[in-house]
Amino acid sequence: MSSIFTRIVNGEIPCYKLAENDKYIAFLDINPIAKGHSLVLPKKETDYILDIEDEDFQGLFLFAKMVGKALGSCVPCERIGIAVIGLEVRHAHIHLIPINSVYDIDFKKAKLKFTHEEFMEIASKVTSLLASANSR
Ligand code: AMP
Repeated sequence: MSSIFTRIVNGEIPCYKLAENDKYIAFLDINPIAKGHSLVLPKKETDYILDIEDEDFQGLFLFAKMVGKALGSCVPCERIGIAVIGLEVRHAHIHLIPINSVYDIDFKKAKLKFTHEEFMEIASKVTSLLASANSR
């Protein structure tokens, strides 16, 4: 059975998309541990991130770098924390998490709640910034 992320990639499930190209996609985590908590993944489904082919692995991190830089400009934070867990959704992905301290990247803490409008606001700030950077 396809992963939930493959279903997002295929447009069967909605997401708050930040960026995509033919190989990678980034969207907001639906149960965030920080405002702007995002996920970046290859569209091609692979369970374990360390099983991804070298070229795609490099491409994934370069794509995450681009999204993370934009995210860090849109959400007030000291920096973007980067984590890979992969125990809940077996489709390799990178977490990008705006942080001010190490406690902001604790996956065991209570998830934050945002309204549809709040998710949309974050996503549209990031997509606008990326669009203007790409048009330069
Ligand atoms: P993990 O596999 O442990 O790295 O965590 C998977 C992450 O995916 C969790 O932070 C979930 O909140 C997130 N997640 C699960 N389903 C969705 C979804 N439909 N849209 C966005 N994020 C999701």
